[in-house]
Amino acid sequence: MGNILKGGEFLIKEIPANEIFSLEELSEEQKMLRDSAKEFIDREVIPHHDRFEKKDYALTEETMRKLGEMGLLGITVPEEYGGLGMGFVSTMLACDYVSGGNGSLATAYGAHTGIGTLPTLLYGSEELKKKYLPDLATGTKFGAYCLTEPDAGSDANSGKTRAKLSEDGKHYIINGQKMWISNAGFADTFTLFAKIDDDKNITGFVINRSELENPESLTFGEEEHKLGIRSSSTRQVFFNDMKIPVENMLGERNNGFKIALNALNVGRIKLAAANLDGQRRILNHSIQYSNERKQFGVAISTFGAIRKKIAEMSTGVFVSEAGSYRLAKNVEDKIEELVAGGMDHQQAELKGVEEFAVEASILKVFVSDLTQNTADEGIQIYGGMGFSEDTPMEAAWRDARIGRIYEGTNEINRLLAVGMLIKRAMKGELDLLSPAMAISKELMGIPSFEVPDYSAFMSEEKAIISNLKKVFLMVSGAALQKFMMDVEKQQHLLLNASEILNQIYMAESAVLRAEKHFSADSVEAAMAQLNLYKAIDKIIAGAKEGIVSFAEGDEQRMMLSGLRRFTKYTNSPNVVALTEKVAAHYIEKGHY
Ligand SMILES: Cc1cc2nc3c(=O)[nH]c(=O)nc-3n(C[C@H](O)[C@H](O)[C@H](O)COP(=O)(O)OP(=O)(O)OC[C@H]3O[C@@H](n4cnc5c(N)ncnc54)[C@H](O)[C@@H]3O)c2cc1C
Repeated sequence: MGNILKGGEFLIKEIPANEIFSLEELSEEQKMLRDSAKEFIDREVIPHHDRFEKKDYALTEETMRKLGEMGLLGITVPEEYGGLGMGFVSTMLACDYVSGGNGSLATAYGAHTGIGTLPTLLYGSEELKKKYLPDLATGTKFGAYCLTEPDAGSDANSGKTRAKLSEDGKHYIINGQKMWISNAGFADTFTLFAKIDDDKNITGFVINRSELENPESLTFGEEEHKLGIRSSSTRQVFFNDMKIPVENMLGERNNGFKIALNALNVGRIKLAAANLDGQRRILNHSIQYSNERKQFGVAISTFGAIRKKIAEMSTGVFVSEAGSYRLAKNVEDKIEELVAGGMDHQQAELKGVEEFAVEASILKVFVSDLTQNTADEGIQIYGGMGFSEDTPMEAAWRDARIGRIYEGTNEINRLLAVGMLIKRAMKGELDLLSPAMAISKELMGIPSFEVPDYSAFMSEEKAIISNLKKVFLMVSGAALQKFMMDVEKQQHLLLNASEILNQIYMAESAVLRAEKHFSADSVEAAMAQLNLYKAIDKIIAGAKEGIVSFAEGDEQRMMLSGLRRFTKYTNSPNVVALTEKVAAHYIEKGHY
């Protein structure tokens, strides 16, 4: 276990490469888990692509059942409740390799193992856990999570579903309507959120459909017809005087929003993982197609325009993996640290994930946005064939689109990540203020013109990342000073800040992964450098837009000059040569 960071602390600390975990470090047991998940998807899912595209909901259910038989639905669930009780990294790994073959199955899997199981695991009483978890862990029963309502989406705490205590005090009677509920068509175990009487906040409950006294008290709308994930069951759910035993409340009354958010925090990290193998598969198809397709008498993979896309897509996968597994291990270590300190495992899981809520939002946004771009470029590489249902790109592109909407839209997650950082700083939990003040002082001073010794591998890249952190602290510190508590209303600026934050976290993850596991002349180092080079431009764009919009006169001039100083690449890489190196490697190898 390394030196355990606090959530958000990456912004103010230099992280040594040996503290970063990545895919290169999987244990033998984890490699077996990865291989068996991948082998299952290749055998049971890929050959049935057409059926998944034709709204074969029964196939999704049947495949989920098989995943249950293999133990892949119970990775996180402790052994005493019928699961495998593996750590957070293994959970991410299973999610990564189960989800890559098909978006419908990925959604069913994520909804079941994540938001459909976790609220009971993390907040259920011992009786509820014993009653519901074994069936969920083995796939004897499937789970759904009912939070969203027609008028309560992003504003999830504003739902109208109501719970009222029965006269004998033994049940809650639930009335209301939920919308967009994944797995609703075949789930038995429903986690749902309702307000008791006129409470301010929602409360969580869990119930099996099969145990309802009146089966008609839980009814469903028709399957929604969707742009993508066509075989994922998505329905409205109606509660009509539905009776739930009072013991089936999760956690405490009025505490449901916290449960919903904590389940979503895990869901967000896992959503990043769920996109990884999808990205790899899109990339591999693209490499193979570009090697086979001939135009002007040669394979299209010989054209610079295609090689650039392959290099960028490969880089995207490398960076996404770096950030996802770095965070997975941070969460796992935090949980272990809390357990070692005497905390009960359930509580430690909660705290561990909550600690890294900022990073969870960063990952969710970065990887889901990138997956859609990867699929888009995949279509482009296939040309006209990419637009056809006969190749895998078209469905991959439609399926990728949902990642930017569910588990909190990407806008909400961007606002949340920056908002949480500000709140932690205000509460004194994360000292962003002292480093921000030190940067103001540095800006007033005369810059050093000495060129440091950057001969060590990745030393300049790491120095740049340190400086990029200063950009974030400089811009957000100044904006906070100007707007004070009103800063939360400045969404344009917060979105700029979030772009800077996301680029820093992901670029740092990739650079440290390359430093720890690869050599200076490796293709992985080239990808980390390529990504950083492009991240700097995105950070400059976001920071500049903010600075010219809220700062004026001398302050504006000083910050713009600081921005130039903090984004300087002394020995700029030859970007075309790096791109060519990455493209040549994967095109020749034939896959990522
Ligand atoms: C296929 C699918 C499966 C789903 N599965 C489930 C499930 O299993 N369980 C479940 O409970 N829900 C589920 N959802 C619901 C999903 O989580 C919501 O759709 C999502 O949270 C957005 O809510 P909304 O659709 O009401 O959009 P809205 O909240 O109406 O948002 C519309 C737009 O406004 C923006 N916006 C909203 N508020 C703000 C704000 N404060 N600041 C800035 N921008 C804002 C959003 O980013 C978005 O661009 C699913 C949705 C889909 C499409």
